[in-house]
Amino acid sequence: MTDLQQHPAQKAIDRFGRTINYLRVSLTDKCNLRCVYCMPEDMIFRPQAELMQDHELMALVRVFASLGFNKYRLTGGEPTVRQNIVDIVGGIASTPGVTSLSMTTNGILLDELAAPLAKAGLQRVNVSIDTLDPARFKRITRWGSLDKVWAGLEAAEQAGLTPIKINAVVVKGFNEADVTELAKLTIARDWQVRFIEMMPFGDVAGFAKEQIVTDAQIRERIAQDYLPLEPVGVANGRMDGEARMYRFPDAKGEVGFISSVTMPFCASCNRARLTADGVLRLCLLRDKEVDLLTPLRHGATEHDLKRIILDGIWHKPWGHGLSDDIVPLTRVMSQIGG
Ligand code: SAM
Ligand code: SF4
Repeated sequence: MTDLQQHPAQKAIDRFGRTINYLRVSLTDKCNLRCVYCMPEDMIFRPQAELMQDHELMALVRVFASLGFNKYRLTGGEPTVRQNIVDIVGGIASTPGVTSLSMTTNGILLDELAAPLAKAGLQRVNVSIDTLDPARFKRITRWGSLDKVWAGLEAAEQAGLTPIKINAVVVKGFNEADVTELAKLTIARDWQVRFIEMMPFGDVAGFAKEQIVTDAQIRERIAQDYLPLEPVGVANGRMDGEARMYRFPDAKGEVGFISSVTMPFCASCNRARLTADGVLRLCLLRDKEVDLLTPLRHGATEHDLKRIILDGIWHKPWGHGLSDDIVPLTRVMSQIGG
């Protein structure tokens, strides 16, 4: 049923009729920060030899692109700590079929890298900032400096990696008081500030479940501290990818809510993930995976890899099981690629 003959157009379609054309590629599981909701401070990383080498990564990207995957986001771990990051971006950007290439980064290294990355073909960045308070930023990231990230944001704007999107995970007891100042960044800047509900993974799952802050709670707080946000377009806010969009009256930018836990967007999911160890992860929040690196290392042809990918995508789970207390256990976010 799911052999190549059943996919004459060789497009990646799942058994629910969703076309999957968006690949999030994790370039490394390593990171130069240790955010409390993402990884423990003494995180152990995989040996380099177990991760995709540059030529393996490029071989897999070419196969995905030939299956209609046109949209790519580089992530991690922290993608900017990957060796040869500029060459990798250049290689993916020039792969036939790739039309969109962006990156999710903590921004720490962007002041040096924004210009060369843009030149190599990167189009946009999402930068993760959970608070504008330097002391709280340090508490959440354990090792981070907000000044470095601001310098990175300026470099990204200058390099044209726009529109800039800011990702903020809201964690009870850490930064729920910061949401208003973060949202107000959009008044004078055409940025998109997106609040992300914390999701439970592996060892940090208990922590996440207790400290989740919902989008309704965030909007209430912003309305109390400043002004109510207004939905853009429709009653619940127009969707921009996975985010529901709101804005302050007369603001230049917009505020988005990514509520994967309380308002899942599984019906319109068009994405899959390639982990740094070369595994196709079919849903962020389900442990179902298909190994691609081992077959590649054992001599699988492009035709073989296409078949493995199409079969995997066909069996992509419908959605997550968080409401039934089914939590992903095999990997934390940094090992999947958020
Ligand atoms: N290091 C980069 C960064 O921080 O932007 C890219 C990888 S990081 C895993 C991608 C995104 O996942 C970040 O915006 C981060 O805040 C978010 N994230 C990490 N752990 C999360 C969790 N448990 N729930 C929700 N989002 C999480
Ligand atoms: Fe690193 Fe990003 Fe995880 Fe923070 S969220 S520890 S920056 S991978």
